[in-house]
Amino acid sequence: MKKSIFIGIAFSFSSIAFAQKPITPTDFGESINPKDLYRHLSVLASDDYQGRETGQKGQKAAAIYIANEFENLKLSPAGNDRFFQTFELVKKTLAARKFIVNQQVFNFGDDFFCSKNISNINFQSNEIVFAGYGIVDKKRNDFKDYYVEGKVVVILAGEPKNKKGLYLLSNSKEKSEWSNKNKKIAAIQKLKPKAILVVDADYAKFAKTYKHQMETPSMQLAENQKKEPEIESKEKPLYACPVITINDSVATALIAPNNKNIAKLRKKYSKLRSIDPFLLKSTLAANINFIEESFNSENVIGYIPGTERPDEYVYITAHYDHIGVIDNEVYNGADDDGSGTVGVIEIAEAFALARAKGQGPRRSIVFMTVAGEEKGLLGSQFYTSNPTFPMNNAVCDLNIDMIGRVDDAHKKDSNYIYVIGSDKISSDLHEINEKMNNAYTHLNLDYTFNSPSDPNRFYYRSDHYNFAKYNIPIIFYFNGVHEDYHKATDEISKINFPMLSNRTKLVFYTAWEIANRAEPLKRDKKNDFENNR
Ligand SMILES: [Zn+2]
Repeated sequence: MKKSIFIGIAFSFSSIAFAQKPITPTDFGESINPKDLYRHLSVLASDDYQGRETGQKGQKAAAIYIANEFENLKLSPAGNDRFFQTFELVKKTLAARKFIVNQQVFNFGDDFFCSKNISNINFQSNEIVFAGYGIVDKKRNDFKDYYVEGKVVVILAGEPKNKKGLYLLSNSKEKSEWSNKNKKIAAIQKLKPKAILVVDADYAKFAKTYKHQMETPSMQLAENQKKEPEIESKEKPLYACPVITINDSVATALIAPNNKNIAKLRKKYSKLRSIDPFLLKSTLAANINFIEESFNSENVIGYIPGTERPDEYVYITAHYDHIGVIDNEVYNGADDDGSGTVGVIEIAEAFALARAKGQGPRRSIVFMTVAGEEKGLLGSQFYTSNPTFPMNNAVCDLNIDMIGRVDDAHKKDSNYIYVIGSDKISSDLHEINEKMNNAYTHLNLDYTFNSPSDPNRFYYRSDHYNFAKYNIPIIFYFNGVHEDYHKATDEISKINFPMLSNRTKLVFYTAWEIANRAEPLKRDKKNDFENNR
């Protein structure tokens, strides 16, 4: 350690003014180095940790490793069980998926799909009503006065067109509002049917995506699952029956077992005056069931109390979970987000060193590694709704997710980092990050993904977003996606450690300045990402 620090401290004790304390962050920032980062990552991104899948052994082992590091650095625990903040998750896995029409069995995905946000579907019915396009409008009412409560309703997707290709309801090339599937479904839900089957001519276009979505087990926070909608609204009616999309083969079996071509039926219904709905002579048995399991996961949280403003909290976050083992291959997630996790540990060490030398941060710094990120930012969502420290007292969140690699756009000049969100809530935060980079790390700060119109929508895709929702200033540090993103090849051998080290330092210096400056971060911007959700 350089001698000048001790002179600096002696000087600062004699001066009362808050802003005059000399700050020498490099003495601590330089403790962040490739060797230490490698040491931590070679553990966390090794096969022993089984890809750190949320709720699995590997994730829990990683949590213990991080907590031990925090303990060694003498951080104060900020979880509910020492450094651990435990939360309950529910995992939903698709089990039964049967659809039988008149004894003919149809296959999930190939022939029918539904959205994942459903409860179990189990029914058998021979009260199945075909109601044309299912439009409920003054110009055209496909239900007439037909009573469909408790019955299965089959409708055609979209809206009818005439021979000239004009939409019947608008009599033009413009679609009417009845092309909006949600609007149509909401109108039919009011009639309280048992289920709605939508025959989609474009079935194949969406089926693959939905099949994959349904077959991938999902997780959510148990506390969110318990929340039932209490108030009826246009978007969320209290009564909502299952909606299942079916292809032409299922529709033919249901509606026209003797009619080879469902296209004929579509044509027949392309007249403005609707045809009366009618009861089909078919029976349908549907079983689409999920198995739900609940289990616990952990965020790991430690902090260094501020020396002068302990009630103001600067967060430094990264997710330590990854996607586990798939088809016997371990997905080690060295970059995603092993790199951010070891970054947080190293930044914690730098601040711990500073404190040991009497240069503890003036504001509190919270070091938080979260789980459940890969399942939908769940760990950070749980923290922000069950915070250890009041959210009103959060100064900012500096979130690190993937900073150990170089993306295709920067193959020629790897000295860069994408900075996302820095200017959206606080102009101070943006300026500090730039100032610290100019002074210490000299990276090219790339703002490509900082636009609300960017199609990648990275701003919404990591844990800082849960902080931004509370209008807390955030920065998301990110190296961009690369060929090994979410692949088993995201390995430590491909990490650029000098780059990881320098980027980690930028986060440290930025945190240092925010924690030690006299003024709070002003929140002077209207977040333009908020209008774009
Ligand atoms: Zn990630």
